[in-house]
Amino acid sequence: MSKLKTDYLVIGSGIVGLSFAIKAADHGKVLIITKGKSDESATSYAQGGIAAAIGKKDFPKNHFEDTIKAGAGLCDEKAVDILVNEGVMRVQELIELGMKFTRNEKGELDLGREGGHTKNRIIHAHDYTGREIENFLLEMVRKNTNITIKENHMAVDLITEHHISKNKNKNKNEKVESCFGAYVLDDENADIYSIVADFTILATGGGGRMYPFSTNPSVSTADGIALAYRAGCRVRNMEFIQFHPTALFYKIDPVFLISEAVRGFGAKLRLQDGSLFMKNYHPAEELAPRDIVARAIDFELKKRGEDFVYLDITHKSDEELESNFPNIYNTLKKKFKINMSKEYIPVVPAAHYMCGGVIVDYDGCADLKFLYAAGETASTGVNGSNRLASNSLLEGLVFAHRAFVHSLKLKEENAEKYKKEFEEQIPEWDKGGAANLKEWVLIKHELQELQDIMWDYVGIVRSTPRLEKALRRIDSIYREIRDFYNRTIITRPLLELRNIALASQLVIRSALNRKESRGLHYNTDYEENTSPSRNDTILEPAIYKKSHFNNC
Ligand SMILES: Cc1cc2nc3c(=O)[nH]c(=O)nc-3n(C[C@H](O)[C@H](O)[C@H](O)COP(=O)(O)OP(=O)(O)OC[C@H]3O[C@@H](n4cnc5c(N)ncnc54)[C@H](O)[C@@H]3O)c2cc1C
Repeated sequence: MSKLKTDYLVIGSGIVGLSFAIKAADHGKVLIITKGKSDESATSYAQGGIAAAIGKKDFPKNHFEDTIKAGAGLCDEKAVDILVNEGVMRVQELIELGMKFTRNEKGELDLGREGGHTKNRIIHAHDYTGREIENFLLEMVRKNTNITIKENHMAVDLITEHHISKNKNKNKNEKVESCFGAYVLDDENADIYSIVADFTILATGGGGRMYPFSTNPSVSTADGIALAYRAGCRVRNMEFIQFHPTALFYKIDPVFLISEAVRGFGAKLRLQDGSLFMKNYHPAEELAPRDIVARAIDFELKKRGEDFVYLDITHKSDEELESNFPNIYNTLKKKFKINMSKEYIPVVPAAHYMCGGVIVDYDGCADLKFLYAAGETASTGVNGSNRLASNSLLEGLVFAHRAFVHSLKLKEENAEKYKKEFEEQIPEWDKGGAANLKEWVLIKHELQELQDIMWDYVGIVRSTPRLEKALRRIDSIYREIRDFYNRTIITRPLLELRNIALASQLVIRSALNRKESRGLHYNTDYEENTSPSRNDTILEPAIYKKSHFNNC
């Protein structure tokens, strides 16, 4: 196959991709590509739930204030305002479509509490909210004859005017304006072909896999960020990586998360000698924002040379724990032989969430026209320097919806029509190169090296000399990967490695550009700053032009 045409190309099948596809399907043919199985996404792993101010004594303004506070001076207030107000509508929409969330005896939504929230506002489906949402949306997608979903299909690169032969000889300084779709690897048939689309959305999730210990599934390799950056889009605030404080201390991939909701339910953190320590770090103790809890644990572990701390919820009964956290309770009991009502749970922090990403405006528009990005891939500005717990599923729903609405506006204006004349000129992917298995074995080791560098030098606590060292080493790894990439046959692991290496560079460069400690970025060489100044770290790729589409 060399070319396929669709109205909407959706790259990724998490909450963003699926919710966008369902809406777009009323207005055209939708093709979802996803690089693994359809339900392989961070969305499927989300436990705690979705934050929305729908409780009787809760209001969007309370949710707004909590989000802004967690973001430590860097949130885009308009984006947060959109999130907390439209979020209520999007959650209600999901319920009206038939999504079942956990309810109390009175039939009301059971609202949980998580760190940084001043009200109970976490709507959840037991403690496997993400899996339920993913399955619910997937079922709708599968029933929709206007949507095709292709598994084991991975976006390699976005197609832009750069690729079009007519424009090849154009002046290099000319602006790159539009996205025409993507080159895609069909992993089962080892084929690369183009999917040409009127509208493309990056719904590719985050990049936790830059780190060796991560709660993220193996698909989270920052592909969307790398694709967009290579195509000329800017990225923002990449240094803000959230480490979840309480991943189970057990070698398993991905690490098993003990949801924040368990602390919301009264769990306490204890050192290995049994003593409590969070009171020394924050008045909210265990319910302090995640960065503070993660840093407190990191500090105590380093000080004592220990590998883990304990999470203690033994004051609750088996019945209470099993009914509130069936997934965590049963997984711990059956898989890890830990009875959480009787034993402490050993936990460590693990890379969890990327707060930055591809710059988009309030309608999800990235720097290329006809290209949207939403969810963990995108930087809308709602997270600032630290995401408030359970805001990310909500952000995915809200901004996927806005991207859809924006695409309808463009469609009504026939804005995409001018692209048609160029579509024929999109060249086939140049498949040159030969398999080079021996060398691949060596290159593969670079993933481990890269992840170790990120963990050791670009982790929870950073310093400028360590970041500089990390950048030197990752630059050199990236050059080797790029060189190998240019002369070999392309495979999914190679593409992922290339994307992880590029994204890691972006994280380090952003971290070096930030001359302060703020939110999730803690650099021992700088004082903490929480002043409300939008000093975002923005990285522009070499081919980015100021005349680009996005004007946020
Ligand atoms: C363990 C865990 C618990 C969490 N708990 C919560 C919670 O309780 N509440 C909350 O709000 N958030 C939670 N989060 C965060 C939240 O789940 C994610 O931020 C959110 O689901 C991201 O949605 P997404 O659609 O942007 O990406 P994802 O759900 O990650 O989906 C990305 C999709 O893109 C595909 N993909 C990636 N690259 C390519 C490519 N190159 N080509 C084709 N396909 C590609 C992937 O295969 C996947 O289908 C949790 C995350 C984890 C890991």
